[in-house]
Amino acid sequence: MAYLNSAVDVLQVPVIGRILRGRWGRLILQVPLVIFAVVLVIDGLTGPVEASRNLATVAPWVHYRGLVVLALLLAGNLFCMACPFTVPRTLAKHLSIRGKRFPKILRNKWIAILSLFTLFFLYEWLDLWASPALTAWLIVAYFVASFVMEAAFTESAFCKYVCPLGTFNFVYSSVSPTQIGVKNPAMCAACVGKECVNGSYAPQVAIRIDQIPVFNADGSSNSTQPKEIRYSPAGTLGCGTELFAPQIKSNLDCTFCLDCVRACPHDNASLFIRQPGRELTQPESWAKRWDLSLLVICLAFMGVTNAFGMVPPIYELQAWMIRNLGFQNELPMLVIIFGVGNLLLPLVATVITAGLSKVFADSDFSVREITAAFAPAFVPVGFAIWFAHYSFHFLIAPFSIFPVFQEFLGQSGNWAAFSGAVDLQVIGLLQMVVLVGGFLWSMVLAQRAALRLYQRAGLPGLLPWALLLLLLMLAALNIFSMPMEMRGTNFLFG
Ligand code: SF4
Ligand code: SF4
Repeated sequence: MAYLNSAVDVLQVPVIGRILRGRWGRLILQVPLVIFAVVLVIDGLTGPVEASRNLATVAPWVHYRGLVVLALLLAGNLFCMACPFTVPRTLAKHLSIRGKRFPKILRNKWIAILSLFTLFFLYEWLDLWASPALTAWLIVAYFVASFVMEAAFTESAFCKYVCPLGTFNFVYSSVSPTQIGVKNPAMCAACVGKECVNGSYAPQVAIRIDQIPVFNADGSSNSTQPKEIRYSPAGTLGCGTELFAPQIKSNLDCTFCLDCVRACPHDNASLFIRQPGRELTQPESWAKRWDLSLLVICLAFMGVTNAFGMVPPIYELQAWMIRNLGFQNELPMLVIIFGVGNLLLPLVATVITAGLSKVFADSDFSVREITAAFAPAFVPVGFAIWFAHYSFHFLIAPFSIFPVFQEFLGQSGNWAAFSGAVDLQVIGLLQMVVLVGGFLWSMVLAQRAALRLYQRAGLPGLLPWALLLLLLMLAALNIFSMPMEMRGTNFLFG
């Protein structure tokens, strides 16, 4: 197989591969999550108001986040693969078949950056982690927004340009050990329909005959054979985020839906094992765009600010703002703290760092090109910060979902049996190892980018970026060394 040079095709694994490739493969994963999402909404709107006893708060804010970072690290973008919010997609897609494309000016990651900012801000301002009802409404809003956008536009604009959860998963699935690819690129070159991206759907049954090359062992072709391809209303949709399987170099924008695999009439697209983080070392993997680079860098900063919202200094800072700046309530203070920490600071730090790097290396590259070259280096350290944060919440109450579920079913929750927690010192050690490991991985990527870009002037060009990465890691280390609020699990420690 061509691009990934991987021999391991995940979809050839017995049973699992067959289920995932199957027509209903994704739905089999999604239906349990849709049912679970409905359960969360019901409990959120009708169940206990205490967050640590309600599924709507415990499942998303304690368990989902811990499991999602683990899945991204060990397997891939499994949440988007099983995403319950896209279940009405087929219906919505048929409604939008003659719809418009998402406006060209918005086909970038600026909205996604704002969505992430808004979600993290609302989480803090509205104390979503403490409010089952608001979390339930957030889930409902998610279903409505994804359906409306899918119905309004021909492509999956919600997933690709808006969804904050998907955006988080897109960015950090770049560390994952799996990726979509093709078995034989030459077959794609001869393919007429490009069904992996166009889909094999037709309102009426339509039959096409393709001349498909027959390949020798060395990959060359010397003859063709006709292959009948049948389109029907029951056909398969093509890639919703408009990725073209033979050209995929990155997990960015891939929801792991496997529609390309199902749509390809030549059984040529599949899911392959790759070196974790492979795309981060390949300069051509990501477009050299400001929105993309800033998304990755902002997300790393958001990890620090988000964690900062849960340690004592934020309350000291707010008290200082009330005393010295005359603020009366929390909203404007959080706007300033989150606006500076999540948007302004990463923007200013990036431009200054890229500018210094350009001057130190005496480079002709533009600030945009330099930023794009170093942006992938912010993935490992950013992922480490989020991993350290989310694993903390998960590991202090990994089994708490069970008694909460028992209470949802009307039984008495067996809290004693499920109160197991990982020792706080062990969690602290894990956080430190993850943060230092992520930083070192980032440094390796930054060093490679510097050598590639500046060659002999690599070291001076690297220094400003190395300093920024180090400051991020030290800020996170400092925050995680402080006592952190045990949100959503207070009951267990109460
Ligand atoms: S992956 Fe399949 S459908 Fe897509 S271009 Fe290649 S052969 Fe054609
Ligand atoms: S159809 Fe597109 S989003 Fe889905 S798995 Fe294939 S490349 Fe990824």
